[in-house]
Amino acid sequence: MSDDPMKLVVVGAAGRMGQTLIRVIASTEGAVLHAAVERPGSPAIGRDAGEMAGLGANGVLVTDDPLTAFVTADGVLDFTSPASTVIFAGLAAQARLVHVIGTTGCSADDDARIEAASRHACIIKSGNMSLGVNLLGVLVKQAARALEAAGWDIEVLEMHHKRKVDAPSGTALLLGQAAADGRDVDLSSHSVRVRDGHTGAREDGTIGFATLRGGSVVGDHSVLFAGEGEIVTLSHSAGDRSIFARGAVKAALWGFGRKPALYSMLDVLGLSSD
Ligand code: NAD
Repeated sequence: MSDDPMKLVVVGAAGRMGQTLIRVIASTEGAVLHAAVERPGSPAIGRDAGEMAGLGANGVLVTDDPLTAFVTADGVLDFTSPASTVIFAGLAAQARLVHVIGTTGCSADDDARIEAASRHACIIKSGNMSLGVNLLGVLVKQAARALEAAGWDIEVLEMHHKRKVDAPSGTALLLGQAAADGRDVDLSSHSVRVRDGHTGAREDGTIGFATLRGGSVVGDHSVLFAGEGEIVTLSHSAGDRSIFARGAVKAALWGFGRKPALYSMLDVLGLSSD
């Protein structure tokens, strides 16, 4: 590794997160925007990436050719869609790039393919790249462990902007997983993702999810621990997408030169042992 800045490719460059990443890279020492990639047919192809992100021209033109972009890069920041992310994981592994994945809504099959790619390249994947939410996950795990015996009910509530396409959010699932880890149970067999109609009484030991969508909310999450006569609420509110973008760039810099494996933001932030 040299002292040269880490050359980063932003895929999904015209998206909400893509544009935020381009702005954050521009203000991060040790990182440089190497290429900006969009899907074929996107109106952004050929545009100057800096201008598109509201920074002024930076000479990096948006391309639909990830292969050429990856060959000479050091890392890729990927907030796109599950289908694209699986393809990018294969390409990034071939080019031995650090691949930071923020994309949410991946299926178990998608995750298996991403894990396979991590045998050849350093991948950092997280449903939420912010310091605050990852700390919240640690606190949720501790609370779930501490409140287990007393029979407290756990509910995860989230709200996002109206254009979000997956539910529950990746962050809600991350927090649900933290609660399940605290109780030492499997999340998928203990979660209640939807309630409608005559559902019967709440089953003890389940972890419930509730999803709200509307307006321009960047991401609000609460984990409620409901006991007899009292409720403990742990929550996080994202005011600005740059918290995710700063986390993603930090993850890329952390992963540069690290051995191939699948890492999470807890590893990047040094919170993985809690
Ligand atoms: P968005 O729809 O605004 O942007 C996605 C962009 O990806 C679009 O511009 C789209 O054209 C592009 N894209 C799709 N397929 C592509 C391909 N094959 N090649 C290149 N570009 C392609 O969405 P967004 O709000 O920026 O969110 C993107 C993803 O990131 C979602 O899954 C969202 O849930 C997730 N997200 C994660 C975090 C986190 O911290 N992990 C934070 C915010 C959003």
